[in-house]
Amino acid sequence: MSNEKKWRANIRSVVPYVPGEQPEDQDVIKLNTNENPYPPAPGVRKMLEQVDDLRRYPDPAASKLVHAIADYKGLKDSQVFVGVGSDDVLAMAFMTFFNSEKPILFPDITYSFYDVWADLLKIPYRTMDLDEDFQIRPADYYGENGGVIFPNPNAPTGLLMPLESITDILDHNQDVIVIVDEAYIDFGGLSALSLLDRYENLVVVQTFSKSRSMAGMRIGYAMASEELIRAINDVKYSFNSYTMNQPSILLGAASVADDAYFKETTGRIIKTREWFKKELTRLGFVFPDSRANFVFARHETVPAAEIFEAAKKNKIYLRYFNKPRINDYLRITIGTEEEMRALTDFLDSYLGIS
Ligand code: PMP
Repeated sequence: MSNEKKWRANIRSVVPYVPGEQPEDQDVIKLNTNENPYPPAPGVRKMLEQVDDLRRYPDPAASKLVHAIADYKGLKDSQVFVGVGSDDVLAMAFMTFFNSEKPILFPDITYSFYDVWADLLKIPYRTMDLDEDFQIRPADYYGENGGVIFPNPNAPTGLLMPLESITDILDHNQDVIVIVDEAYIDFGGLSALSLLDRYENLVVVQTFSKSRSMAGMRIGYAMASEELIRAINDVKYSFNSYTMNQPSILLGAASVADDAYFKETTGRIIKTREWFKKELTRLGFVFPDSRANFVFARHETVPAAEIFEAAKKNKIYLRYFNKPRINDYLRITIGTEEEMRALTDFLDSYLGIS
């Protein structure tokens, strides 16, 4: 009898996405996963005390949260879909909208979950090289394809595309769905949301994880035409009716209610980022001009991997991707002013600058 385990052939084999490290040690300066250094809006904590009916299933449509987002964005409720972080929303969107034999297109340097979902869901894909300045070239997306997705600002480069480039891509892709992943749009970018009226094949995805300081709550959302939102809901209800737990529905809505706090904290991060960019230049780093809550920087002489390890020994966590084209770079999340000063102090002494 053969020893061969035939069932192995039926096991789906994938190379999973690897998230940034979440150390148990609370005593580190954590600049490796683009979290917001400020707490969520005060109303979120207050609402947390009122979450008590955990005995029941949550509202499968998460209507309170959908309504809060739609109202805030000036959309109909039927144009908003919510999920467990934008990762969940994007995975559902891949499943719903990318069902062509033709390859979907996305940049070669981008959010490293796209190729993982494509592999998992058996969606053919092609990556389009960013130019030598890490910019997306809209003309690369003119050819026939099964769909297009890119983040704006792109990750991990932080570079923002102007709306004209996005309309250019949309104008050349009227037969497929185009997803703009706006995880970092609230740190100074112009959203493609204003294009929804003109392009019924556009899906804009955003998250509460970065600008709303709620990565731990897991809330993301897609905005699109009613037809597309209906389609993604059908897929969700064919997979798991209750993706959104009750606390996330209530706390998410509480966050949206406090716009002043949202503007204040995102404004602080933008201000710290601009200060930090000047410091990076002084320290001998070069970097694309980020409009996100992180900077993607390379030192002119010292290898990124060495800085990464040395910072970690000093309890400062940064993100390093050991991948072609970007293995000279560090992705540095913008923390509080104090955290960024601790980093520049460390870099000053490590790089021997005084
Ligand atoms: N898109 C991009 C470009 C990201 O960098 C991230 C963060 N890892 C996400 C989506 C997912 O974020 P979340 O699931 O926390 O909303």
